[in-house]
Amino acid sequence: MRHKLVIGNWKMNGNRAANTALLSGIVAGLNDFGADCAVCVPAPYLAQCQAELAGSAVAWGAQDVSIHASGAYTGEVSAAMLQDFGATYVLCGHSERRSYHHESSELVARKTVVALAAGLTPVVCVGESLAEREAGQTEEVICGQLQAVLDAIAADDVAKIVLAYEPVWAIGTGKTATPQIAQDAHRFLRDCLAEKHAAAAAEVKILYGGSMKPENAKELMAQPDIDGGLIGGAALKPSDFLGIIQAV
Ligand code: PEP
Repeated sequence: MRHKLVIGNWKMNGNRAANTALLSGIVAGLNDFGADCAVCVPAPYLAQCQAELAGSAVAWGAQDVSIHASGAYTGEVSAAMLQDFGATYVLCGHSERRSYHHESSELVARKTVVALAAGLTPVVCVGESLAEREAGQTEEVICGQLQAVLDAIAADDVAKIVLAYEPVWAIGTGKTATPQIAQDAHRFLRDCLAEKHAAAAAEVKILYGGSMKPENAKELMAQPDIDGGLIGGAALKPSDFLGIIQAV
């Protein structure tokens, strides 16, 4: 059985004092809720996570990774650097990076390869825009985004990725996909995985992301192919984040 996983994506939020309050609130409130839990933080705060979360049940990770190992790539952060600060996860292809930084599915796939090679768990984000959904292109879009990654990684590595289905129209908008819409997309993604990787398809966790909050988490998490959540806004308050983990 797939163990549930809840990851907070802090995006570009936080400062040292606020982070300490948030992290200690999460650690103090975590009971044995039966879900794995992590925060993906801005790169400068990885050291703080390492210092404040080591030995706790909360893992940490980053929101992006360079495809390069080292050298003249100003502003980039390598997978080895993330590993150096104890990161477990790295988001690859969040829709904000795909749209604001023009990351193609091929680039996202290369980032996934680099993350896997460094022993990190890539959280590969896929999702359609509102226009694509309205044009009936949801399956084509999310399957294409996933396929680019599957074409790039070794078959043995498929089971090591985490997928996040994040409909772009639901991210930060307050509009959540209905549990049925989300389940249909998750089932579809699992079927895409199963076409060539049947065993891995049963193992890969598929998280839902898009305006998840404690009030809607329970119904979403109850769907058979939803294995957890990738949480943006609601990950910035311990009570909301813990409320979602509890709903699992
Ligand atoms: C996200 O950034 O991945 C996300 C799901 O954001 P929000 O929960 O705020 O919609």
